[in-house]
Amino acid sequence: MMTSKINLQYLTIKEANRALNEGDYTSQDLTQAHLEAMATERGLNSFVTECPDRALAMAEESDKRRSKGEQISPLDGIPLAIKDLFCTEGILSTAGSRILDGFTPTYESTVSHNLWSAGAVLLGKTNMDEFAMGSANVTSYYGNCINPWKASSGNLVGKDLVPGGSSGGSAAAVAARLALGSTGTDTGGSIRQPSSFCGVVGLKPTYGRCSRWGIIAFASSLDQAGPITRSVGDAALMLAEMAGFDPKDSTSANLPVPSYIESLNGNIKGLRIGIPSEYKLDSMPDEIEDVWQRGRDWLIDAGAEVIDISLPHTKYALPSYYIIAPAEASSNLARYDGIRYGLRVEGEDLIDTYEKTRAAGFGDEVKRRIMIGTYVLSAGYYDAYYLQAQKVRTQITNDFNSVWKECDAILTPTTPSAAFAIGEKMEDPIAMYLNDIFTVPASMAGLPAISVPAAINKEGLPLGLHVIGPAFTEQTVLRIADVIETAAEFTANPNENITIAG
Ligand code: GLN
Repeated sequence: MMTSKINLQYLTIKEANRALNEGDYTSQDLTQAHLEAMATERGLNSFVTECPDRALAMAEESDKRRSKGEQISPLDGIPLAIKDLFCTEGILSTAGSRILDGFTPTYESTVSHNLWSAGAVLLGKTNMDEFAMGSANVTSYYGNCINPWKASSGNLVGKDLVPGGSSGGSAAAVAARLALGSTGTDTGGSIRQPSSFCGVVGLKPTYGRCSRWGIIAFASSLDQAGPITRSVGDAALMLAEMAGFDPKDSTSANLPVPSYIESLNGNIKGLRIGIPSEYKLDSMPDEIEDVWQRGRDWLIDAGAEVIDISLPHTKYALPSYYIIAPAEASSNLARYDGIRYGLRVEGEDLIDTYEKTRAAGFGDEVKRRIMIGTYVLSAGYYDAYYLQAQKVRTQITNDFNSVWKECDAILTPTTPSAAFAIGEKMEDPIAMYLNDIFTVPASMAGLPAISVPAAINKEGLPLGLHVIGPAFTEQTVLRIADVIETAAEFTANPNENITIAG
């Protein structure tokens, strides 16, 4: 059977790997099809940098390996997109910021290095909120990324929608079939929230599961890399290659990496799933309630036991996150001074050069975070804000630790709404921050959590369900997500006007 290029874009990683092994086509065919799709869809602005030459060279190497029977992993020859927060050797790495203008690292992040060692192919670097601060991909120096989904009815018809953020480009690229998978990073929701808005799967692993080395730091005690894919199985395949101990990151976990794909056996009989009462918001739209209810029913049908639980400190998670994350950011971003790399705006003297460079190099949201962070860490306010927020963080972790005695995992919606129009919530940072109300608690406690596409709302936009588990239970979290994926039968895609050939 002759396979068309469009068909190549519509495969999962698992299917592509099988077809490559069967010789249906080469990694170069697969890569070329994706590079062409990227060129056609530049209007989405999902990539900051495209790497066609590097991609085709990597694909050729992969094809050579396969022809000699030396396939390295299920990712060998698979074209992927990398969030522009990961440093990539010899390739512009910007964090979506002007201050890293022209920054071409001389080293490779451990996670992306692991993917290349597994034989994967780098298509390009994806757009993102500046320094991963945002929930709509509207703070990027490189402009908005656009969600490939469009509303089919209601007030949003005809409007460009946000892809979510901060890993907006990574989620949009996978949803639009421009990459078979991508990497994201999640500090408070940046893998899960854009995955929910774009109708794809996004997994934030346990803090420490993947190395942070070579990932441009936002809030170091929260940042974690993870995969964004079109199926739970693909998330399992990618995580297996991304994860692992790294002596270069003292917070990376020295634990073996299990075969995540083998844990997807569909058997959740007897698992206890907690439904936290604090996640039922008064203002929650019916469609979010409904998808959550459907999720509960699917899990019960599959043999799980669903129980009510309480996480009493949930309401303090977002306020304390917005102290801790800016505090760490203000410290991490102190290094951008215009002297060694990135943008430099010459001033009268050294101090003036620092000031002019930072004033020109950082956008408004980043400046806001630096100011908040500096304030909460300052001598007179440290105890009242930063120390207090750390204590709240411990309470949030304790809440989770006590519910793990009653349940094996927790089910919640991923976000309190579907994607919104570009330009909305821009004047009101708090409204923007509320996007992460369901994702931030797991980040504060360092827990693994996944978003799975579960439904299409009345306006034709995707909604995600969110599964949280105890630390290092990615296998269980993935297994539950896989059951939800099977039950949800989510087959919609944003390119429905394209006829799939083959
Ligand atoms: N939206 C949240 C923020 O702006 C989370 C971002 C992230 O996870 N990187 O901080």
